Amino acid sequence: MSDNNASVAFLLFEKPRHKQSSAAFDDGNNMGVHVVRDVLERAGVRVGYCTPETAKHFRVVLVSFTSKHDVIELYRRVSKRADWQRPRSFVAIGGGSGMQNPVAIRNLLDMAVFGRSEAFVAELVVSTLDAKPFEHPSVMHLPDVSDVEIAQAPCLYPNRIIGPDKRHIGGWSEASIGCKNKCMFCHYAFTRKTLAGNSWNDSGNTESTLLDLVNAGATRLRSSIKGQLVTALDGTSERLRCLFGKPIKAHHVTALIELLADAGVGHIVKLFNIGNFPTESKSDWDELRDCCLAANPRAHVRIAVQTTPFQPEPLTPMQWEAVRLFPNLKRMEQSPIARTGNVEVFHGRYVQGPMPQLSSALVARATPQTDAAFAALCMSSKLRAMGSEQGVRALLKSFDLSPVTREYEIGEQLPTWFLRSYTPTHKIERMAQRMRARPEYANSKG
Ligand code: SF4
Repeated sequence: MSDNNASVAFLLFEKPRHKQSSAAFDDGNNMGVHVVRDVLERAGVRVGYCTPETAKHFRVVLVSFTSKHDVIELYRRVSKRADWQRPRSFVAIGGGSGMQNPVAIRNLLDMAVFGRSEAFVAELVVSTLDAKPFEHPSVMHLPDVSDVEIAQAPCLYPNRIIGPDKRHIGGWSEASIGCKNKCMFCHYAFTRKTLAGNSWNDSGNTESTLLDLVNAGATRLRSSIKGQLVTALDGTSERLRCLFGKPIKAHHVTALIELLADAGVGHIVKLFNIGNFPTESKSDWDELRDCCLAANPRAHVRIAVQTTPFQPEPLTPMQWEAVRLFPNLKRMEQSPIARTGNVEVFHGRYVQGPMPQLSSALVARATPQTDAAFAALCMSSKLRAMGSEQGVRALLKSFDLSPVTREYEIGEQLPTWFLRSYTPTHKIERMAQRMRARPEYANSKG
């Protein structure tokens, strides 16, 4: 093996300028980085950390992408640097759950790794250090774009990770992978094989499905909830939720509010939600308000609804759907949804406006034709000085972004044509066809 003492480093953006970026991973939030580091160190490869400026002192630079905004952050930080242009003095390898489409940064990386890499990342890095070729179905050699499969973990990560910050990482152990629910918009569920039970009943943690909570009952809830209760609604009306694979009825929302009061855990609850879904209209939001108002809890219940705009995630049955940038969900931030007696339901903080939504879509549906728009999005100070709505309108006026925002026919080739997951493509297509054929979808499209 090569003398690889501190020849490998994770790229660290010391101070991410944008809060959506999670590339600063020294706080233990990005467990993927710590798993990869652990695998490499167990294989005898010492791993350091570098910045965009110090990357040139290493032979292999690993770049972690936990979200699409990390793709933007990398471009902002290194695309103008001479030492990051080809031919580079180091090999840049990107991976992580945010690695869905590397096209926008194909000149800044040499390899893109898709999915869970613990089974082959040590061989990949050692081969690279030894200047030997490495081929794997889940590795794309850039700048060429070729078919890849999302890699699966062979098992739950078996080792205890002792990281640089023991306070956060020392007690971590992987409890589950994947999700049995298969909501139609969920990239995670369609790209990660389920490896262990992950229901509330198994883990007893405070992040649970809303139906599990309702079914659990007040006594179980009272004894199990620690700290803030977090759950997900993922659709403002029964129609939207049932259409997109989350069978939460309106009466379940009412029941949850009353149950939280009975269990004495209604003081601080976060309810994740998705907005600007295909076919969504004001009447869907009215239903959410009405089912909150229908609740009559015995004690005060305070719920923050945290809405994120819908993204047509690759490899899901909703990947062919359109991106709806308006209405601007940011305008709802911290406003009330329902307020009466003991019920207080309101929009939370940090709701994404149309610009972060378009940014994510521009990464997810990047093609060489969107390079100029992507560069403007990342680098234009004029654009950044504009508000979210104004910036989006300026981008849409300057570039043809219809391939990024438009609805596709099911089966039509998408910008992410190169991705495959463990879920067969024909199954994903069939689910999408059934969804679009349902009257709740077709009739609402007018
Ligand atoms: S969104 Fe649905 S499929 Fe995805 S993890 Fe949550 S419950 Fe599971």
